[in-house]
Amino acid sequence: MAEILIIGAGIIGLSSAYYLRKQGHQVVILDKGDLQDNCSFGNAGMIVPSHFVPLAAPGMISQGIRWMLNSKSPFYVKPSLNKDLVSWGLKFMKYANDAHVASSAEPLRDLSLLSKQLYEDLSKEPGFDFGLVNNGILAFYKTEKAAEEEAHLAAAGRKLGLDMVVLNAEECKALQPELELDVLGAVHYKCDAHLYPGKLMKALMNFLSKDGVKIIRNHEVTDIESEGNRITKVWTGDKAWNADHYVLATGSFSPALAKMAGIKLSIMPGKGYSFMEDDPDQKMTIPALLCEARVAITPMNGQIRYGGTMELAKMNDKVNLKRVEGILESIPKYFTNLKPKMPQVDKIWYGFRPASPDGLPYIGRNTRLSNLVIATGHGMMGLGLGPATGLLVSQLINETKPAMNLHSFNPSRFD
Ligand SMILES: Cc1cc2nc3c(=O)[nH]c(=O)nc-3n(C[C@H](O)[C@H](O)[C@H](O)COP(=O)(O)OP(=O)(O)OC[C@H]3O[C@@H](n4cnc5c(N)ncnc54)[C@H](O)[C@@H]3O)c2cc1C
Repeated sequence: MAEILIIGAGIIGLSSAYYLRKQGHQVVILDKGDLQDNCSFGNAGMIVPSHFVPLAAPGMISQGIRWMLNSKSPFYVKPSLNKDLVSWGLKFMKYANDAHVASSAEPLRDLSLLSKQLYEDLSKEPGFDFGLVNNGILAFYKTEKAAEEEAHLAAAGRKLGLDMVVLNAEECKALQPELELDVLGAVHYKCDAHLYPGKLMKALMNFLSKDGVKIIRNHEVTDIESEGNRITKVWTGDKAWNADHYVLATGSFSPALAKMAGIKLSIMPGKGYSFMEDDPDQKMTIPALLCEARVAITPMNGQIRYGGTMELAKMNDKVNLKRVEGILESIPKYFTNLKPKMPQVDKIWYGFRPASPDGLPYIGRNTRLSNLVIATGHGMMGLGLGPATGLLVSQLINETKPAMNLHSFNPSRFD
């Protein structure tokens, strides 16, 4: 059995540790934080086989430019001459086309369905109660334009074998009787599911610690040393760590880590916000996506989590209240009896989605450093794609046949 060092204890690092440990490897995880929080905690908890269209899709550029003019809009790119952003943006433009959408659909579907199945398996293991619910997701719309786009998506989804049903307003009402709806209709993404991310992360950490995985907190990787085609050491300050294999799973921070190893990885942090409110009457039972507003609403743990916005810019700790207001104001437009209050600033969570320019994750071995597996860039879907990515990482390290073709996720595809 081998010694594996995983850098990053988000959902991707922890899931990788889970499968590697199950196969008997010695696993150490290094993380720069205290693991009370990272992008994998405060997200909307949705598992989305329905999301087989990558962010890089036709229409996103013109829509993005229109949104940039509105301070409360769901999408924002901070204009900047930062060379990483420029290079990311050029790649994004190159891939925002129909051919890319068509070639990404099956790989994204397969990765998501595999992950969903693995979450179901995991939820049956002792100690893994993380609020997994298989009610699907309702994607509500108010305009004819969104209705048409969603009907088109549902038809494409059905062709891919995904259960997606178009509902009129009455059919929506029958599914969510406690909500007063002001919508034209919705697509019920019956193929989707949701869970409570904080509970999942804690369950994974508990299991791994009990099973002998060393999770080392507050240790920031500051350098990566290699000789020939192998990583030989990873440094956290003046302490060196070594292993047979290394896994890079540092989410939005990955480009800096990759650079330490002499590798280029194009990822921009896509900042998003969320906040929770109690829902004593359990008004919402099925998670919702508000199509025009791009807001996600998920019932979890007796509460409702509201989340949204995507700001592509350098990472910063500022809470942009205008964006949070944008989320807040959109909700009663769809649900007239759901009026969340503006949360206190310290109750607003934010995280950075690791967004690759073509909207596909990076999962694979590095071509130069043979003992390095890269697992990052999952963008808006990292929580949902965690277990499948973890399983694939373990198969790459074991050199067994991967559960699916990894060609589309090759980390060196932009080299
Ligand atoms: C508002 C919002 C809603 C979302 N909703 C959903 C959803 O509904 N469904 C879904 O699937 N996804 C969702 N996402 C996306 C999802 O949260 C991310 O894709 C996912 O959490 C990324 O996981 P990760 O493990 O790659 O990164 P992270 O969770 O960010 O973990 C990376 C870890 O690496 C550590 N690290 C970084 N640098 C170093 C270093 N130098 N040394 C050591 N450690 C380091 C960090 O401390 C961190 O703990 C959402 C995101 C946001 C912001």
